[in-house]
Amino acid sequence: MSDKLNPFEMAQQQIDNAASILGLEQGIHEILRWPKRVLYVNIPVKMDDGSIKVFKGYRAQHVDVLGPYKGGLRYHPEVCMDETIALSLWMTFKCGVVGLPYGGGKGGITCNPKELSLGELERLSRGYVQAIFPIIGPEKDIPAPDVYTTPQIMAWMMDEFSMLKGYYSPGVITGKPVAVGGSLGRNTATATGTVITIREALKSMGKSFREVTVAIQGYGNAGFFAAKFVHEKGAKLVAVSDSRGGILNKEGFDPYKVFEHKEKTGSVVDYPGATTITNEQLLELPVDVLIPAALEGVITKANAHNVKAKIIGEAANGPTTPEADEILYKNGVFMLPDILASAGGVIVSYFEWVQNLTNYYWTQEEVDIRLDEKMTAAFKAVLEVSKQYKVDMRTAAYLHSIKRLAEAMKLRGWAG
Ligand code: GLU
Repeated sequence: MSDKLNPFEMAQQQIDNAASILGLEQGIHEILRWPKRVLYVNIPVKMDDGSIKVFKGYRAQHVDVLGPYKGGLRYHPEVCMDETIALSLWMTFKCGVVGLPYGGGKGGITCNPKELSLGELERLSRGYVQAIFPIIGPEKDIPAPDVYTTPQIMAWMMDEFSMLKGYYSPGVITGKPVAVGGSLGRNTATATGTVITIREALKSMGKSFREVTVAIQGYGNAGFFAAKFVHEKGAKLVAVSDSRGGILNKEGFDPYKVFEHKEKTGSVVDYPGATTITNEQLLELPVDVLIPAALEGVITKANAHNVKAKIIGEAANGPTTPEADEILYKNGVFMLPDILASAGGVIVSYFEWVQNLTNYYWTQEEVDIRLDEKMTAAFKAVLEVSKQYKVDMRTAAYLHSIKRLAEAMKLRGWAG
């Protein structure tokens, strides 16, 4: 991050900003600024060469006033305690914006999953569950996928937890494969949600997907499916990227073909007929819609002035720093903030958990309709708050979410 703002401080600034606008009671504000619990674990893993390697892992739990902690698990070389805490704070507000009965949680392991064999990955994932076992469970804290974690990893973790419990317990984790208690539509849910919010933003500007160009940073689960959906809706996908770099073609890409190229070569870079660009250049392209779908802290005060997109749909967590937010707002960019635009994943995680707890499974259509209802309602509510308080959409999303949290805290006698 070029702003040098630690993501935890960034999350706290966003809370402070919303708290001062709302005139939030001091006690509620103070509770919201800190995680309730952070577990730091060291996980010994037997590597394929017979050696033992110890990996660092974390699970942060923020505020559970509305329900059990909920949020993903990240496998990445840059995972650290502060990032995990920041991500757990954002999960609380994300669940609050869309009205889910959850608090924020987040976990991660500092590792490079691309360098691990399947066996090593499985042993690491099972070891992590053994280490955090005391603090997770369907009624306590329900992990899910995040950056570089997959449905297969969720299946191993569910299995490990069930073995330790002594009975099948699918509700401990979401984002599982459908064959072991996953929900239809979970794999595509984050992107579906982001695209619904972009649809609503376009509608409010009297536009449709057919009239716009799109650039997407990140080509993982959220980025690829977002590309697929905007393409299907008639938008022109002119640029995409991954951790190795980006590609540009003003005539537009077919997202499936780019996906196939990435599967074959490991990256979108060097896609035939495309111009190579950097991740930084992608953010500054003259497109209508920009979708950051990778990591946090990429739009900063250093580059926000150069962003030309009219709409930003944040599929990633925390891609924009607070200073960049101010600049974008002044420049009239329609910001769809992460805690709203990336909420599709946790919404369908909630549906998956409900299905696991009731042992009754829904059709794809039921999932799609309910996801659309929740996302559209949340978008409209946040837009309304932004008009009422005359604030940007991120601040409005925080206000909307914090009001819910504050009411519950008061009623439960925590503060206020
Ligand atoms: N990791 C996703 C997020 O940041 C999903 C969390 C979940 O499904 O619990 O929203």
